[in-house]
Amino acid sequence: MRVVMIGSGYVGLVSGACLADFGHRVICVDKSPDKIDALERGEVPIFEPGLEQIIAQNTTAGRLGFSLDLPRAVADADVVFIAVGTPSRRGDGHADLSYVYAAAREIAAAVTGFTVVVTKSTVPVGTGDEIERIFRDEFPEKDIVVVSNPEFLREGAAITDFKRPDRIVIGTDDERAIDIMREVYRPLYLNEAPLYFCERRTSELIKYAANAFLAMKITFINEIADLCEQLGADVQKVAKGIGMDKRIGDKFLHAGPGYGGSCFPKDTLALVKTAQDHNSPLRLIETTVAINDNRKRAMGRKVIAACGGAVRGKKVALLGLTFKPNTDDMRDAPSITIVQALLDAGADVHVFDPEGMEAAKSVLGPVTYGDSPYAIVDGAEAVVVVTEWEEFRALDFRELKARMAKPVIVDLRNIYKPEEMVKYGFSHFPIGKRITK
Ligand code: NAD
Repeated sequence: MRVVMIGSGYVGLVSGACLADFGHRVICVDKSPDKIDALERGEVPIFEPGLEQIIAQNTTAGRLGFSLDLPRAVADADVVFIAVGTPSRRGDGHADLSYVYAAAREIAAAVTGFTVVVTKSTVPVGTGDEIERIFRDEFPEKDIVVVSNPEFLREGAAITDFKRPDRIVIGTDDERAIDIMREVYRPLYLNEAPLYFCERRTSELIKYAANAFLAMKITFINEIADLCEQLGADVQKVAKGIGMDKRIGDKFLHAGPGYGGSCFPKDTLALVKTAQDHNSPLRLIETTVAINDNRKRAMGRKVIAACGGAVRGKKVALLGLTFKPNTDDMRDAPSITIVQALLDAGADVHVFDPEGMEAAKSVLGPVTYGDSPYAIVDGAEAVVVVTEWEEFRALDFRELKARMAKPVIVDLRNIYKPEEMVKYGFSHFPIGKRITK
């Protein structure tokens, strides 16, 4: 199969590299010369475990290439995936589809022969219909079928998720497109990944419904965590106790500072907007969005409370900035709001993240960046764990305490055992369980 990926970001690059690894011939296109130059030099512009190796192997094998030249890349492709961004539109929260439509027009102008154009980007229901209308009206001579194939990979575990997905959703009724999509994903049969075919609009909604459900599950346990703090119960044990019920499941029940990242915030908002427009409001998701927005700022207040009610002129050290570990992605990370709340209250904020500091520099206010956890805690009145990177789990707590002005740990990811923190002489402020001082 000759496959082209339009957009070489987190999704396009991982999908392109994995499809090349399956044996297809893949070209990853992007309009950013910096990205394509870096990739051609063998540098990977994002941090994703395992990606560098898989890109190197497949470029060397001649199956994977990179290009700025979209028309040339797609001219004789069998299948072209659109994997460009669909951020929140400024002002109203709908998905901004301008990149998708621009890519679709460029593709249609350049293809020759029968081509399947696949939306892998997360797009609202009806986007496939609109692309099809554009093709029919503006490029009536072209033989193109539009398919929906949303992506469910998680950053930080993207390669495994792409290669061993729980399911692959494909939205199309067209027999020729079904054959091509079966061929694209045939190597995954070995991994027993089910292909789930449905209508295109249903496929588009599956992606939003999945993300909204997961965001709701996280928000549910976050509210239970707040209740646990009032009642003297332990949210981790509640989560375990309910998660053992197979109808509930144990995933996505980790209480924390609120969901963030490049998908949940924008996708929940876009779904809420779509539902309102169609006079079928999703009140559960509207509430989920509102609770999560409030929660991030509330985490700032939690830190301030742990510092005795005021942080003006006090040094606060943040461990972790990215929205989850094993990524450098800072999009909509809870750390952004937490840092802002602390800065607003007059704190002197010092931060460290293993991979996210470059990206953080363009979104965080005036904070000081350090090059290790220990480098940022000298004289700090509190350490706040914002992202649960592995390397924060086994810090040298004696050294940490010796460097700090006050031994206070605000553990927004519950990575430390309260008993241990007490043993080392820390006041420990976890999520959804008793504070130990
Ligand atoms: P991204 O911002 O990392 O990458 C998008 C890339 O597309 C950018 O490099 C941009 O330069 C490029 N681009 C935009 N217009 C282009 C054009 N006309 N021609 C060529 N390149 C173009 O975005 P992402 O995180 O990879 O997300 C892409 C889509 O996948 C979004 O719709 C997102 O919601 C969805 N998605 C993301 C994830 C995730 O974990 N990041 C998971 C599932 C689905």
